[in-house]
Amino acid sequence: MRKKIIAGNWKMNKTVGDAVALVEGLKMDLAQGTDVEVVVCPPFTALQAVGEKLTNTQIKLGAQNMSSEDDGAYTGEISHTMLKDLFVKYVILGHSERRQYYKETDFWVNKKVKKALEKNLRPIVCVGEKLEDREAGNTEKVVEAQVRGSLADVTAEQFENVVIAYEPVWAIGTGKTATSAQAQEVHAFIRGILRDMTGEKAANGLRIQYGGSMKASNAKDLLSQPDIDGGLIGGAALDARSFIDIVKAGM
Ligand code: PEP
Repeated sequence: MRKKIIAGNWKMNKTVGDAVALVEGLKMDLAQGTDVEVVVCPPFTALQAVGEKLTNTQIKLGAQNMSSEDDGAYTGEISHTMLKDLFVKYVILGHSERRQYYKETDFWVNKKVKKALEKNLRPIVCVGEKLEDREAGNTEKVVEAQVRGSLADVTAEQFENVVIAYEPVWAIGTGKTATSAQAQEVHAFIRGILRDMTGEKAANGLRIQYGGSMKASNAKDLLSQPDIDGGLIGGAALDARSFIDIVKAGM
């Protein structure tokens, strides 16, 4: 059985004060742990303050990006050492906004994924097709290239620490959710690629989240699909009540 994982991607939102207020709200319902693994990914500037509030809770801390390098002259970058220093456990890599606005390619995502795994951070690796890909019938081709490219050279043992987020780009922040059948179809397809890459056992154990306008009202349906093992939540993670309700839908 795969334990469901719901992660909140707060993106470039929340000052330190706002972030602390949000995490205090989440703690009321989620601090003691649930059947679902809960992760919050604040902006870098709020990681420390949020991490302090998460001490002695079951909620895990995640970051939204990470450098592929160890340290040195990389202005504006954040390293694995800096994240681990703040007790970060997960790191979102290859989010479509990074791919689209900052031109991150599978090559770079793969470098970051390998670095994260080598340093015992768990990557949440994002893949997903654009609307034009889907309309041209290229969803599987695009997603397969991203999965294989982003996870190239990851060992079978390392695969145990990988989470994949399938996020159709046309569903992110648009209010358009993939139907549970559309999402399940791609999730099952991704699991098939993973079987080919790393074998039956690792592929069956690996969690694949859905992301793209997931909210309390559609979460239960999506999360009840056999290959949907959680959610990566953007907009609906910015409010404590709506995020808690999504987590509860996964229980
Ligand atoms: C995301 O950006 O990862 C995301 C899923 O955003 P939203 O929930 O707002 O669509």
